[in-house]
Amino acid sequence: MRIAFFGGTFDPPHCGHLKIAEAAAARLHLDRVLFAPVGQQPLKHDGPTAHFADRVAMVRLAIAPYPAFGLSTLDAPRPDGKPNYTIDTLLRLKASLSADDEMFCLVGADSFLTLQHWYRAVEILFVCNFIVAGRPGTHLDEISTALPAGITLSGPPEISSEVVRFHLQNTRAQHSVLYLLPDLHEDISATRIRTALAEGEQAGQVLPSSVADYIHQHGLY
Ligand code: ATP
Repeated sequence: MRIAFFGGTFDPPHCGHLKIAEAAAARLHLDRVLFAPVGQQPLKHDGPTAHFADRVAMVRLAIAPYPAFGLSTLDAPRPDGKPNYTIDTLLRLKASLSADDEMFCLVGADSFLTLQHWYRAVEILFVCNFIVAGRPGTHLDEISTALPAGITLSGPPEISSEVVRFHLQNTRAQHSVLYLLPDLHEDISATRIRTALAEGEQAGQVLPSSVADYIHQHGLY
């Protein structure tokens, strides 16, 4: 199986998340995309506004129409109250897969551009292959400059209109592939949705209706 881990705050999950997961699944022939709401994202100091249980419930509703999408609670809040580090979660997921499975980690370009600040950033790209989805406001030519020191390209990128493949290597001669989906341009963000809802506006077409109903019924945001 080809399985992608897709972590996020999902506060709330929106159509941008679904669109990039659909594009990644189609272009990289993924059998499964695991949406994993995070307990506490290490780089988001304000923390989520909706409780983990609500974010899990909303993700479950959002992905229900998509047979290839699944929910993972692997990134649930830690009992010790510490942030959830992506590398720990990826290593746990990898340990639970079989040797035939191929694992990927799906992230948006804005998130990938902060990679140098991630915990054990140099190692994380070699735990599995990464898929980076383009996002408005991010410059994709910065992708290779976002790589932590010690990681280099082992050849020229292979470019097609749908996927750009960067072959990476580190100082221990380990290899990995970073797949960039350059043309994705979903101008949707959870922050903007929360702000709109807090001001009494409708979120409109950017939320699955099941998620919009859940938010309304539970008085979130
Ligand atoms: P917030 O506005 O609260 O920061 P968000 O909309 O970025 O939220 P997250 O749940 O934090 O949503 O995102 C989870 C992952 O999905 C991240 O890797 C993020 O980069 C990616 N992502 C979210 N929205 C988009 C989008 N519109 N296009 C591309 N990637 C996205």
